[in-house]
Amino acid sequence: MTSQMQSTEMQVSDIGMLPGTSAQRSAPLSLQPQAVPTSALLGTYKQPAIDLVRGEGVCLFDAAGHRYLDFVSGISVNALGYGDAGLTAALHSAADGLVHTSNLYGTWPARRLADALVAHSFADKVFFCNSGAEANEAAFKFARRWARSLNGENAAKHEIIALRGSFHGRLFGTLAATDRPAYRLPFRPLAGGISIVERNIDDLALALDAETVAALILEPVQGEGGVRVLDAGFVRELRELTKDRHIALIFDEIQCGLARTGSLFAYEQLGVEPDMLTLAKPMAGGLPMGAVLLTDRIAAAIQPGDHATTFGGGPFVASVALHVLERLANKALLAQVRENGEWMGRELLEIGRRTGRIRAVRGVGYMWGADVRGSAGHVVSEALEAGLLLCTAGDYTVRLLPPLVATRDALAEGLAILERVL
Ligand SMILES: *Cc1c(COP(=O)(O)O)cnc(C)c1O
Repeated sequence: MTSQMQSTEMQVSDIGMLPGTSAQRSAPLSLQPQAVPTSALLGTYKQPAIDLVRGEGVCLFDAAGHRYLDFVSGISVNALGYGDAGLTAALHSAADGLVHTSNLYGTWPARRLADALVAHSFADKVFFCNSGAEANEAAFKFARRWARSLNGENAAKHEIIALRGSFHGRLFGTLAATDRPAYRLPFRPLAGGISIVERNIDDLALALDAETVAALILEPVQGEGGVRVLDAGFVRELRELTKDRHIALIFDEIQCGLARTGSLFAYEQLGVEPDMLTLAKPMAGGLPMGAVLLTDRIAAAIQPGDHATTFGGGPFVASVALHVLERLANKALLAQVRENGEWMGRELLEIGRRTGRIRAVRGVGYMWGADVRGSAGHVVSEALEAGLLLCTAGDYTVRLLPPLVATRDALAEGLAILERVL
């Protein structure tokens, strides 16, 4: 597929005159979620509003039996929804086999999973780890190792560049590549040699210095940064620049990869191949797993001992991931995500027109952001009370990430709740 990513990006001027009236408010919201008990859990997250106990299809249920339509999917993780028979069978059969052996020994699920990822992608080699941030940190290390193998051990070619609006994780290295002052400032000094550059070709052409830069990392669709689909022409120019200057181009497809945009990998719709690609969120059906996909050119620089992880690619997670990959590479599923995704984008624009509460709509596939008037967090909590789970992407953007198995009817039900809430 070499066509441009079928994205929709509409500003208020495109939506036209927004009626000043707010949507008719339906009957008072009846759900009263029960308070979640406090505990010894460290408060890195806000006290959650609900405790979930069960899932079925695209719905989650709390202890009191309230039903929530899930447009979060565990933040792009639960692509197959809940209680999926195939996934449950894969989990059971994985539990009957080896769970962990360490990477000192070979196990077949990791080998087969690596081969399958290579068969489906640009890549020649795969490294497994346990999360998104770990995958990106591994990719940074591989890029520096490769750059030094080209230019000598003492060469200054080590800088890593990320884009304005990016999110690449919360560890020291990835935090330095994440463009959120509130996440970064309390933890300075962050890892050195990593900087953020504006999302335009002129600034990037200056910043991508052949002598000093080892890698450029970008999300083909920026997730946390507001659901921003990067322009295919822009990414193509970056591909040319990085190729000429021997800079590794890394696509972070941790959120947008594995069918979320309607192709197995988002890059397929850009008509551009990276040198490395990182995966995690939906990879192993909710079990923690990450991966770096690499070309032979980069992989040739990596020697035994250059990187390691105790749990990465263990037989239990890898055999579940094999099942998930087979399901997400399914052509009928991908076509459904593309078609329903386009429909969802059009519906969001219509909801914007009818309610006057949406300023802009962006997205592709089952990954959408709606810039709302007022606080996105407020819309998210009102939607929760009305039985729809949503999340934010920044202060003003409501993010929709339904499970990829959500039917048109389920999407319509969720959008109807969103409209009522707006
Ligand atoms: C979630 C995410 C990460 C970090 O993944 P973790 O598993 O939370 O470490 C990195 N990049 C992108 C684009 C993400 O959405």
